[in-house]
Amino acid sequence: MKKLNKYKSQIYFHLIVNSLVGVFITFSSYYHLPLNYISDYSIYFIHFIILQFTVYGFLYLLSINKYLFYLTFPVLFFIYALFSYWVYVQDISISYSIVQPVIESKLDIALDLITTPFIIYSLIALLIIIYILKLYRNLRVDQLKSPLLILALIAIATFYGLNKHGIGNLKWRMPYNLTYGFIEYFNKPIVHYKKVNTNIVNKENDINIVFVLGESVRAKNLGINGYSRNTTPQLKKINNLISFPNVYTPLTYTGISVPQILSNKSIYKEQNSSNLFSIYSILNKVNFTTSWIGNQTPEKSYSFFIDENDNIEFIDQFHDVFSFQKKLDEEMLPFLESKIKNGTKNFITLHMIGSHWWYEARYSKKYRKYTPVIDSKHIPALSNEQIINSYDNTILYLDNFLNNVIHKIKKSKSKTILIYLSDHGEILGENGKWLHAQGDDASTNPAMFIWYSDSFKQTYPEKIKNLQLNASKQITTDFFFHSILDLIEIQNFNYEKSQSIFEIVKN
Ligand SMILES: [Zn+2]
Repeated sequence: MKKLNKYKSQIYFHLIVNSLVGVFITFSSYYHLPLNYISDYSIYFIHFIILQFTVYGFLYLLSINKYLFYLTFPVLFFIYALFSYWVYVQDISISYSIVQPVIESKLDIALDLITTPFIIYSLIALLIIIYILKLYRNLRVDQLKSPLLILALIAIATFYGLNKHGIGNLKWRMPYNLTYGFIEYFNKPIVHYKKVNTNIVNKENDINIVFVLGESVRAKNLGINGYSRNTTPQLKKINNLISFPNVYTPLTYTGISVPQILSNKSIYKEQNSSNLFSIYSILNKVNFTTSWIGNQTPEKSYSFFIDENDNIEFIDQFHDVFSFQKKLDEEMLPFLESKIKNGTKNFITLHMIGSHWWYEARYSKKYRKYTPVIDSKHIPALSNEQIINSYDNTILYLDNFLNNVIHKIKKSKSKTILIYLSDHGEILGENGKWLHAQGDDASTNPAMFIWYSDSFKQTYPEKIKNLQLNASKQITTDFFFHSILDLIEIQNFNYEKSQSIFEIVKN
């Protein structure tokens, strides 16, 4: 009986600690989920309980040694609770891309974040820490010999087991996403990209290139590619536009597709560290002004490319694909306008949030043409029709966005070309699958098209003819790097002219 009482106090301690960690940290990742049906709530409630159970395992291990616990628990709880505050209040995305600015930001930016509610919250977190430490001090159990240890090991095994099989995406939620963000930050990247040598030059100096890097847009759902719905009414009316509906990439998520597009890495080859070059390093070498305007927070796999740009503008840096209050892509337009004004030899990249799930957060009400739309984040609760409607509304928004971009760059009378390429496609129910990061005809077929100005057309009739000839061919996203170098006529640097869409591509 005495023994049971002993375990009772231990059970009580872990229940209290886990409830408090649950409220102050873990639950923040669930708070903003758009859910609509009782079944969704129950599924996410179970998800939360399982996640907190795995957290219990790690907390238990931490609590075995009293020195370890006294030293690490207060610090960890405080840091994680402060991050969670911003997740609760502003639905910020927790990943490497938030850890980096938080660690590297200047003090004045940090001071901006300090508000009265934030101070009150921090004080409450401190009181909670004192309370937990007090409970811990009264705990008189050898935790190494308790049956609760076995339960803790099961909890940890559950975490690794689920992660290994990609079940439940526990890594995307607090406290794991922050932990992985820290780990990624402190693991320095292996740089695969070489410096370009000094003798390279280019011949075409009187040109502007605008590269719109899209997100999760599949070629199939564009009206200009023959989709049954007219999702691109404005692009349809634009002259000098050539769509390439048969682009292929096997790389179906942002983190791996973007570094490939922005370098001479081939989709077919494993990363070959001896001969990889970033497109921006070459453009910078021949004195293009490179600008990155991004509505996605950079991931570690491609933040290196962004940093190479002469000008960098981020829209809404602390919200990303896992936030539900993200700013729309149109916020990038004023930045584009200011960059294109600087004459020629501009290379401007617009990195869109595009058509990334959750679709309802990607467009404004005006474009809600197809209804009913999605009303829950839980895909099994939705009909195919709802998901496709919401997705197609994001394409209507894209149509308007690109129309605005083209009208803005048209104003400059110089030779200008726009390349739109989505980083990958999206699966909409084919073979029972949804979204991306998995292979399928639709996820490997990103949308792509070219628009060129009248003066470009007059200067390069041959190139236009080749673009038209190549449009229906099967090409891969390898085209991008080689086409740009071909277009600006790079000398003294080896690239594959045969991959350029401005030449005749063999098929
Ligand atoms: Zn993507």
